[in-house]
Amino acid sequence: EIAFYQDRFVDVDEAVIPIQERGHQFGDGIYEVIRIYDGKPFTMPEHMARLEKSLAAIKMPLPYPIEEIERIALEALDKSGLKEAEIYMQITRGIFLRQHQFPEPSSPVISIVVKNARTVSEEKRAAGVPVITTEDVRWKLCHIKSLNLLPNVMAKQEAYEAGAHEAVFVEKGIVKEGSSTNIFCVKDGVVQTHPATNGILHGITRQVVLDLADELGIPVEERTFSLAELKNAEEVFLTSTTMEVLKVSSVDGEKLSEERTVIDQLYTAFQERKQMAKKAL
Ligand code: PMP
Repeated sequence: EIAFYQDRFVDVDEAVIPIQERGHQFGDGIYEVIRIYDGKPFTMPEHMARLEKSLAAIKMPLPYPIEEIERIALEALDKSGLKEAEIYMQITRGIFLRQHQFPEPSSPVISIVVKNARTVSEEKRAAGVPVITTEDVRWKLCHIKSLNLLPNVMAKQEAYEAGAHEAVFVEKGIVKEGSSTNIFCVKDGVVQTHPATNGILHGITRQVVLDLADELGIPVEERTFSLAELKNAEEVFLTSTTMEVLKVSSVDGEKLSEERTVIDQLYTAFQERKQMAKKAL
């Protein structure tokens, strides 16, 4: 494990955040999580592009040019010596006397942590995971990968206490996404997921899976669907950087179909995509 703060590499346990850091006091910042497979980053350009979009959406400038941030992240990865890893990267509006409006001049601060990857056990992959649903109480700009994760934290804790793997946000009967995942269903052979509006995070894995389905000739549709539709779907699965493509076995304690034709096809294609990406680098 290794970390980077502002302009230097530090030990992950070293105290480096001043008390008036705006990430700390306001959650005034954004972040990214990039998965490293066998020492090589997966979909890094897509993550860096989303980072830039999140920054633009909260009117925050980059602390360094994007190429430099990428270089620092890769140097941190190299220093960590880790092969199956996650790069956590966050940028905040910096250190300033506490006031709500932006500090002038702007001086954003980057921090990076490289740590071992979290993985999903083969048992869970095979059996699928239970999820619960919870009311989506978040703000209206969920496409920004903001540090303000309190609703997500509360939702995940609710899932944890219910013995479930994920909590799925539902708004007015519409299935949005998980607390840290996107959610898909397969209905009449069509792969469906919530459209990439401001109401959800535009998951990088979500897009990879949509592209893979397309390449496999499986019809896809980005459309909203209800909780009732989800429960009656042929297949339901989650996607994320850390969970990849993961079958859902039950929703709020109600067992789902055990069918997994499409999930298996997409999971296999995803593993192939990882291999291809490694060779291309
Ligand atoms: N939705 C939310 C709310 C998330 O936090 C995440 C994970 N960052 C995702 C979806 C999945 O996105 P990705 O595939 O880019 O990891």
